[in-house]
Amino acid sequence: MRGVVRRYGGIVAVGGVDLVAPGGRITALIGPNGAGKSTLFDCLAGTVRPDAGRVLLGGRDVTAVAAHRRVRLGLARTFQQIAVFPTLSVADNVRVGAEQRGGRGAAERTERALGLLGLRGVADEPAGVQPTGVLRLVELARALAGEPRVLLLDEPAAGLDAAQTGRLVAVLRALAGRGMALLLVEHDAELVAELADAVYAMAQGRVVAAGPTAAVLADARVAEAWGGRP
Ligand code: ATP
Repeated sequence: MRGVVRRYGGIVAVGGVDLVAPGGRITALIGPNGAGKSTLFDCLAGTVRPDAGRVLLGGRDVTAVAAHRRVRLGLARTFQQIAVFPTLSVADNVRVGAEQRGGRGAAERTERALGLLGLRGVADEPAGVQPTGVLRLVELARALAGEPRVLLLDEPAAGLDAAQTGRLVAVLRALAGRGMALLLVEHDAELVAELADAVYAMAQGRVVAAGPTAAVLADARVAEAWGGRP
């Protein structure tokens, strides 16, 4: 995104942000509550229209492209608030993501995503009876079933136990290794340090530091704004 601005009344939620999430890399977005991270994600996903600036997907200007069409262009997203269809099976929830992307091979893409996240064993069970940790993986599988080029993740490790977090880390690394661009909002500093290649730190709608993970996490301005929030 280039120069993205989004206001709500008198509040500048995002105040002119430039951000690049390159293919093959994991980029983290950090910052205290209210920094503008969710609004920035909404601008990328297309659920919120910026007041100024541009959003590009693989070099194409998608600023005026609707959210569902961005999905077809290879953008996928997971949410902080888990939202599965409780009465549908795990597999059918994942299939929704495969079908939203369009094109052929939805069944195969569903199978691959289930396998990647270790969900084959619960594929036929209703999603509504699964614990939070499994539902996070279901959401991720749903996003991956569209085989996106760019994946936006909002606190993907929230509610995961150590084993599930380990699997998540391995999966996200593998996806980056295949060339996918990953951008995650994450509050867990340890996870950011372990996972991210680069970090953007936001405060009050602006990027206060950006660059390689270790350098940004060591930046005094980041510590001040973020407070090393666990
Ligand atoms: P959190 O970590 O708590 O999710 P955040 O960094 O994602 O915070 P945003 O949710 O993007 O921050 O909020 C940025 C600012 O914009 C805040 O001051 C917030 O109150 C305001 N804001 C966000 N969405 C709206 C809205 N729909 N209407 C009015 N104000 C909003």
